[in-house]
Amino acid sequence: MSDEVKPDRPSNSPVRVVQLVERILALHESEMDCESCGQQIDCLAELVAVGQDPRLLLPAVQAHLECCRDCREEFEALLCILRAEQSGQF
Ligand SMILES: [Zn+2]
Repeated sequence: MSDEVKPDRPSNSPVRVVQLVERILALHESEMDCESCGQQIDCLAELVAVGQDPRLLLPAVQAHLECCRDCREEFEALLCILRAEQSGQF
């Protein structure tokens, strides 16, 4: 019999998903600088603007914002714009 039943794809495994997330977070923690922070800052601002907790979603970006004034000012400016857009939609 050559038609063996193939096992489920590994992507269905929750362990694999956790490993991927951990790897992404580790990468961001070690490589977070103003440039990579800036690439995610608009994403983070959008999440915060809709009421999500940035410390849970993008902890490395949040950590960088807390110790980098330049990026925090950019973040707050973005957040202001997003909130103004939101209130303009009413
Ligand atoms: Zn920075």
